[in-house]
Amino acid sequence: MFIASKLFAKHHITGIFSERQGGISPAPFDSLNLGLNLGDTDENVQHNLNQLCTAAQLPIPHRSRQVHGTSHLLCEGEGLQHSHQADILITRTAESAVAVRTADCLPILLIDKQARVAAAVHAGWRGTVQNIAAIAIQKMQEYGAKPEHILACLGPCIAASCFEVGLDTANALSHSHPQAQQYIYYKDNKARVDIQAINALQLQSSSLKINNIESIKCCTSCLPERFFSYRRDGIYSGRQLAIVALPMSL
Ligand SMILES: [Zn+2]
Repeated sequence: MFIASKLFAKHHITGIFSERQGGISPAPFDSLNLGLNLGDTDENVQHNLNQLCTAAQLPIPHRSRQVHGTSHLLCEGEGLQHSHQADILITRTAESAVAVRTADCLPILLIDKQARVAAAVHAGWRGTVQNIAAIAIQKMQEYGAKPEHILACLGPCIAASCFEVGLDTANALSHSHPQAQQYIYYKDNKARVDIQAINALQLQSSSLKINNIESIKCCTSCLPERFFSYRRDGIYSGRQLAIVALPMSL
């Protein structure tokens, strides 16, 4: 039903990335679809969300309208679907879990346990071009987090082997970090891009420790049994959810 971050678990924190099995949605959203307004019913999505949160022992998370921008939303109280547009969701309380939806884009979970600040980030190629990972760290710092204490887990996304982009996109991504070029592979007027690796670079440049960055290597496009993939399935693709919550304070 989900992959839990091993790095977070070592620090007694729950950070998870859902897979597609274990829900009740019919094809083509079978079965753990967590995306609203795709053609699946709201009731199915709510049921799936409840099942996932129960299994992971997490509160229902806050969710936003994701628009491939870099705005953030500070979440408080009980989790809900906001109409607010944001691609970075931040929480400072244990009862307010935060989540982002993906189906090929990269979900990033961040947490500073000492400062009690956590964030969920939606990083597609547009977000990556805009350095969204670094912007999220900057926002967390404004809420008291210290980069050297922040743990990051980069979840399942489309891998370089499957993520072909045009040269304009490749060019924009190559400027997103001084070393981004090494993760862009050119061939025949096309390029393949490792957005997970580029986001890891952006986090390192934001002073996160290498040992505090975990990358889950699962290509969403290559694994139809486990993941929804927009590139593979188009508009008939469900959505995964990545969720993080602060631990209850003692
Ligand atoms: Zn693949």
